[in-house]
Amino acid sequence: MIEEQKGATEAENLLEDLGFNALPISPKDVVTAIDFDDFTVVIEEQYFDSDGILGKAVGNDKGALIYINANISDPGRLRFTAAHEIGHVSMHIIPQLKMSFECGSKELSNPFNDPIERQANGFASGLLMPKTLIRKHCDCEINWRNIQFISELCGASLEATYRRFSFLEKAPNAMVIHHNGKFSRFVASKNFEFYIDQTPLSSHQKTLMTDVKKEPYPHDFDTVDASDWINPQSKGITLESIYTSTILLNEGFTYTILTYDDDCIAEEEDEYY
Ligand SMILES: [Zn+2]
Repeated sequence: MIEEQKGATEAENLLEDLGFNALPISPKDVVTAIDFDDFTVVIEEQYFDSDGILGKAVGNDKGALIYINANISDPGRLRFTAAHEIGHVSMHIIPQLKMSFECGSKELSNPFNDPIERQANGFASGLLMPKTLIRKHCDCEINWRNIQFISELCGASLEATYRRFSFLEKAPNAMVIHHNGKFSRFVASKNFEFYIDQTPLSSHQKTLMTDVKKEPYPHDFDTVDASDWINPQSKGITLESIYTSTILLNEGFTYTILTYDDDCIAEEEDEYY
């Protein structure tokens, strides 16, 4: 998480220096604000031949060009990609660490061991959702109602907003994504200690979903058996229960937040009775 944190802090400091103090932050406005005579920065949408590339940034000591794939239909994704490329300009091209980037969905979501891409993702997250500004609007407790509110306010996707909250939240948490009931992937905070089951949603789990096309986003959690979602044993601790909140979105996607606290831990059996 350290590289993401570095990126987020860099973006937050930049916004403060530039005097951005209201949401939403427009990546194009940020580009205008960092475009100077002695170092020009230009952002353009372009139709790329290769669908895999979402954004590019290239530069030299006189300026930088950012290209965003005009085929990106999701506005949240488009803004995140633009913010990610601004991160490359600000953190890598201007200090002349690396002068050319081509970023696809791998770089923009799970770049694993690429610190430069992780910095750019942290930068994008901090640029679109600077913590001092989002805290003016919300207590930032992790729940779908808060996440949806900030996602809408900042023009970021639910997943990007979850990741931002996950970072700001101290309690262990994870988000599990299913598509048409089948396990798709998960993101977990560093302190989430348990192995997440990669199984289809059970009929019981389906009954707990909130269909957010028809109902408001929930702010509360259900308490369920920990073994419904995870291997409940890890590092000598057994979780008896876990808190879950599942939303059903468009096109059969469900997003579930998992979290737990001390109340979820099974009491140790007394060996001395
Ligand atoms: Zn990148």
